Amino acid sequence: MNNFEEFATYFVQNVGSKEGAVSPAIVQSAAFGYGSPETAEGIFDGSVKKPLYARMGNPTNAKLEGILAEMDGGVGAVVTSSGMAATTLATMSLLKSGDSIISIGGLFGGTYSYFSETLSRFGMGTKFFDVDEFEAIEDAIDETTKIIFLESVGNPNMRLPDIRAIADIASRNGIVLIVDNTITPMSVAPIELGADIVVYSTTKIISGNASVLGGAVVFRAINGGDDKFKTERYEEVHKFIKKMGKMALIANAKKRAMRDFGMSASAFSSYLTLLGLETMPLRMDRVVSSVERVAMALHQKGLNVNHPSIDGHEQNARYTAQFSKGCGTLMTIDMGSQEAAYEFLRKTELATITANIGDSRTLALHMASTIYSDFDAETRKFLGITDGLIRISIGLENPDDIIEDFIQAAN
Ligand SMILES: *Cc1c(COP(=O)(O)O)cnc(C)c1O
Repeated sequence: MNNFEEFATYFVQNVGSKEGAVSPAIVQSAAFGYGSPETAEGIFDGSVKKPLYARMGNPTNAKLEGILAEMDGGVGAVVTSSGMAATTLATMSLLKSGDSIISIGGLFGGTYSYFSETLSRFGMGTKFFDVDEFEAIEDAIDETTKIIFLESVGNPNMRLPDIRAIADIASRNGIVLIVDNTITPMSVAPIELGADIVVYSTTKIISGNASVLGGAVVFRAINGGDDKFKTERYEEVHKFIKKMGKMALIANAKKRAMRDFGMSASAFSSYLTLLGLETMPLRMDRVVSSVERVAMALHQKGLNVNHPSIDGHEQNARYTAQFSKGCGTLMTIDMGSQEAAYEFLRKTELATITANIGDSRTLALHMASTIYSDFDAETRKFLGITDGLIRISIGLENPDDIIEDFIQAAN
């Protein structure tokens, strides 16, 4: 039984149209005529729902945004030029100088340097915690804390957070929780678990074949009654709540980030992403079963494999209880030394050596010498980057072929 049946129907039915062009229309225009001054005024004040200018959105992007919002039970979404742009949009639309972030778990390299090197230059600090440091996380919250940021699966340390428990901490303290769900779309439903904002790099499993760079941010609705966004901590958002009600976070993100930073997605990128979405449930189902199978086979051969499906993994119980639809395409192998890792990568005939993940093809990369080469030893240790660590993203090949190839590469 496919774990993602409900999405399979939803995506293909909504990406295609029953009248006119079946494939989504690529609306390739930077500007849009308003027709009349009254319509122009309405478009600018938000009362008329028509395209304003491609930096603020276009109809192809809007189609993708609607489908992704529905996937996560959000009130709306904004697509961006890349996954890093999505994280930038989600955070920069809320932060001001002096604010701070609490970041939990293993972190994508770009996000780590964005928080630790770039935001700090603008007076916004980040404190980093491991997934289960609940008490320390709660103690670290102070009046400057604006965001708790979490990855659904630690990349590449494969640690799994208890998203609901962290959402409870966020909610108790009135802090916004942002979850980077890039690795687990459909498998993990962050908004249902209590997150406020979900970010994606759609470059990965959503598009699924290295054809296009993209990102998306999904926002929950502002509640009619009490809501953490209505507290003093988020006073910059209040004018949007007054004007746009439950849609306030979309308006806030579009004005504060999209308009002012311009991380806009192109219509052609959204088109390619929509094509990827159609088959994502089938691909994801295949990969989450393959990754378990490959991880187990290599583990039984005595390789040092890191995947939470393996008995004895620190988060094996959490994987079984909370990640019943898998945790995406990733696993790691620690070959013990850089030399042994390079040898494995030279000998594998099947894996493509690249920094991407979530592709149709199986991908592999030595971590310490590439994505994490800029990081000092202490930071690498915190992120779980050992000298022999290879990150693998399992693809759609026959899993037995992957196992056979990896066993010969490891010998
Ligand atoms: C790739 C990735 C990003 C960044 O996405 P880009 O599309 O490359 O900008 C962010 N978070 C995670 C978890 C990723 O894997």
